[in-house]
Amino acid sequence: KYVMMNGQLIETTKAAIPVMDHGFLYGMGLFETFRTYGGKPSLLSRHLQRLSQGCEELGIPFRAEEHKLEMLIRELLEVNGLSDGYIRYTVSAGEEILGLPSADYREPSHLIFAKELPVLDEAWYIKGKPLQLLKTMRNTPEGEIRYKSLHYMNNILAKRELMQYKRAVQSQAEGLMLTKEGHLAEGIVSNLFFITKGVLYTPELSTGILPGITRAVVLEAAGDLGIPVVKGLFTTQHLSQADEIFMTSSIQELIPITALLGFPEGEVIQVQDGKMGPNTRRLLDLYRKKAGREDVE
Ligand code: PLP
Repeated sequence: KYVMMNGQLIETTKAAIPVMDHGFLYGMGLFETFRTYGGKPSLLSRHLQRLSQGCEELGIPFRAEEHKLEMLIRELLEVNGLSDGYIRYTVSAGEEILGLPSADYREPSHLIFAKELPVLDEAWYIKGKPLQLLKTMRNTPEGEIRYKSLHYMNNILAKRELMQYKRAVQSQAEGLMLTKEGHLAEGIVSNLFFITKGVLYTPELSTGILPGITRAVVLEAAGDLGIPVVKGLFTTQHLSQADEIFMTSSIQELIPITALLGFPEGEVIQVQDGKMGPNTRRLLDLYRKKAGREDVE
């Protein structure tokens, strides 16, 4: 199988990053994960905007060339025998002398991976998944904006914790992180929403969450559908009283949450009779249209 490294196709086992790359030494780099629909990257301009904004903050030179990237991704899918894929685009800071840098980086490495999309049975979108409350807390944002940086230790620790809960593993539950103040934050690789009495709620960015692209598109979709939105600080109490709950990510779109595990310890709370709620359905349908899914009416 192949990766695209600095615009060149290369066998994955032969692709290498120099040991002096500050992406490796200091985690200086960013990435985007998205999917394709019909071979076309979904919401690419938004992903490139998040990436270029982050690179600017980190002093990593980056010029977004959407059209060129789209072509490289098509080529990469083709050589890997995929019609659609899970795409990861990584920008690593590049080589520098050892020690913290006193100036901007000069030559970052660009790496694009394509792999098969996870099997997302349409049944998940109807019956939903459980959500396991985690003890691992969302750490604080790195500065004003939370970057999609190469540091994923917090998320990996959360995933490791999730793997310790037998019931959560068996039911393929999502995990939920709170802030150290006890406010709802986000999933391990997804954002959180809930709907109570027709109002859509989502944690505000100050909770340290990633400003998700799917989150942004869902908020726009809510506006289009006339669903009022409140971004703020919420607790598990709000969640356990919600009419509908769902999580969002570029790969999974909107996944309904139909049971809460560990709220509190040992208890299971059913949400929306174990089925996707009506507002979640409307938001999912509109999201899919906006994301470029062509099998949606
Ligand atoms: N939150 C975290 C921590 C993530 O890693 C991700 C995606 O990987 C998301 C939220 C969802 O972001 P997006 O909608 O941009 O895929």
